[in-house]
Amino acid sequence: IVGRVWSYRDVTAERRAQAESERLLREAREAVRVRDDFLSIASHELKTPLTPLKLHLQVLKRHQASEQPIPGQHTEKALAQVARLSGLINDLLDTSRIQAGRLELRQEPVSLRELTHEVLTDLRTDSPHHTLVYEEPSKPLVIQGDRSRLAQVLVNLLENALKYSPTGGTIRVHVEREGEQAHVSVADSGIGIPPDQKALLFERFFRARNAPISGFGGLGLGLYICRDIVERHGGRIWVESEVGKGSTFHFTLPGLENEVAEASPADTEA
Ligand code: ADP
Repeated sequence: IVGRVWSYRDVTAERRAQAESERLLREAREAVRVRDDFLSIASHELKTPLTPLKLHLQVLKRHQASEQPIPGQHTEKALAQVARLSGLINDLLDTSRIQAGRLELRQEPVSLRELTHEVLTDLRTDSPHHTLVYEEPSKPLVIQGDRSRLAQVLVNLLENALKYSPTGGTIRVHVEREGEQAHVSVADSGIGIPPDQKALLFERFFRARNAPISGFGGLGLGLYICRDIVERHGGRIWVESEVGKGSTFHFTLPGLENEVAEASPADTEA
């Protein structure tokens, strides 16, 4: 009986070891795919805005030479391409700062209710084909943190929600207090994320297998940067998703100030 028990155990251990080595092999292959994809995606992404940028500048130059009034839309469109390029370059710079441990965070009071409101107001102007719904908290929800970096997290999650959702889709942003921490979620009804890709989503250069390649710019750095910013504020970031149904990105931030500190000076005096 003892012999039989041992051989059963050996087989189980062997199967487990085999499954583990298959998992490692799968991960190594995925890492190679991600690295190979990155180089071609990065060159393509950095080059794409240059063609329209050049065209708009040529139009502007022609109009200037002939002393005709300059059509405004070309200036706007050229500036939009410059913004796209600088966004990509900023993501690359932030990534190397994170890698070198040099991404500095400010410490200032930030009202998450107001910050989300501002970010959404700006984005609504640029996204007429989606509905952005804000489920806001009744209190300002103030933490100590880096205002512009926290705005960057929100913008990133929202831009992804817009990028990976069909035209006409609704995106819901929910901000609430959960004890001592704030909980923010961004829910879309877009393409979703395959379950086996979820664990890698917050890694550098990772783009899910189902992310469209053309027309949707992306270097796979945004979520990596978001995770660093949220974790350095002491929080946590994660995603729930179903392919074809949509994704909800959540993050928490600890250290909410109490309601008395959040009240306006008039309220405090009363
Ligand atoms: P990217 O610039 O490629 O969007 P991110 O780091 O922001 O880089 O996101 C990494 C990958 O995660 C994306 O390429 C995409 O595959 C997936 N992803 C992120 N947000 C969403 C979303 N809201 N819906 C579906 N897939 C998403």
